[in-house]
Amino acid sequence: MTNPERKIQAITRRKFIVQSTILSSALSISGTLMSFTRFDQESTNRTFDVIIVGGSYSGLSAAMALGRSLRNVLIIDSGLPCNRQTPHSHNFITQDGEKPKDISDLAKKQVLNYKTVSYHQDVAVKMQKKSSLFELSTRSGTVFFAKKVLFATGLKDIMPPIPGFAECWGISIFHCPYCHGYEVKGHKTGILGNGNLAFHYAQLVSNLTSRLSVFTDGKASFSPDQSQSLGKNNIPIVEQPIKSILQHNGQLSDIILQDGTTYPLDALYARPSFEQHCRIPIELGCELTEQHLLKLDRHQQTSVPGIYACGDNSAFRSITTAVSTGSQAGAAINMALSTETFNLK
Ligand SMILES: Cc1cc2nc3c(=O)[nH]c(=O)nc-3n(C[C@H](O)[C@H](O)[C@H](O)COP(=O)(O)OP(=O)(O)OC[C@H]3O[C@@H](n4cnc5c(N)ncnc54)[C@H](O)[C@@H]3O)c2cc1C
Repeated sequence: MTNPERKIQAITRRKFIVQSTILSSALSISGTLMSFTRFDQESTNRTFDVIIVGGSYSGLSAAMALGRSLRNVLIIDSGLPCNRQTPHSHNFITQDGEKPKDISDLAKKQVLNYKTVSYHQDVAVKMQKKSSLFELSTRSGTVFFAKKVLFATGLKDIMPPIPGFAECWGISIFHCPYCHGYEVKGHKTGILGNGNLAFHYAQLVSNLTSRLSVFTDGKASFSPDQSQSLGKNNIPIVEQPIKSILQHNGQLSDIILQDGTTYPLDALYARPSFEQHCRIPIELGCELTEQHLLKLDRHQQTSVPGIYACGDNSAFRSITTAVSTGSQAGAAINMALSTETFNLK
């Protein structure tokens, strides 16, 4: 990882555990990004049918549907997908075990085969409605206009302040047993969490390994039934606060507790809290769900007409879901544009 990518927000450890438990679902970029892949900077046409902010799996999938529908599309992407530290991606059919970047590079190549789609590497920083168009400004100072805007901007995971955690994220610390559980089946595994979330993980992960412990990093908050059930499944609960995680190149080897006790581990499940990677939809008044995801109608539209969303910022976190919701958003936007034009005649 480069230094900017390592710029990780910290929260207190207790807040992390509390937020992890509450949140039932699931870097800031420095410097100016101005490398243009397809968008011609000299072009005077800066007005598009659709601007897609976020050019990873969900944004590219939407661009495919829109580009093939002859919509004039601009993708703006800052190049920081949430899974960039994970060496191999799993559970997405046809691409199982591939590097995350290889999957998105192939998608980008296929999408940019359509002359209707342009790609611009930059950060979208501000947007406002100007009569019938949205005006979107980027960090490099370029201004674009579009009839509809799709946010495929994903989420930003907030690393807890445990030394070693961030280095292991996506390499030996995972949020998703479906994405990475098979690769560590039968291994010595921990769950970092408390209450319902940790109990849910224990039920799921015990199918993959019997060498399982729960680390609550403070007083456990399981119900008596949950504690009894964990005991019956031979899953010890470790309440001692965690001091650090010992790791080498992201592969954890031990959890070190405040009292100096060391627990050797091969893998750890944890669900850090997160925030929307891009705050523009929130600034424009788009409503959020209780899980801090963008609230959508059945056409992938946010609570603000003309602004749509897809992928992690509004759905279950997986590449399959990102691609599926992206494709649905592309189709919904195309239908809206088609209806508007058709009805004008
Ligand atoms: C560590 C880890 C490992 C994972 N492993 C797997 C796995 O093995 N299998 C699986 O199916 N899923 C996995 N996932 C989940 C999967 O990565 C996500 O579901 C998927 O990346 C979501 O795609 P997305 O397009 O919605 O968002 P992202 O892939 O996060 O992409 C969002 C894009 O929007 C851009 N962006 C954000 N804000 C702006 C802005 N203001 N201007 C311009 N661009 C912006 C970002 O730079 C980024 O490129 C993993 C997730 C994590 C965190």
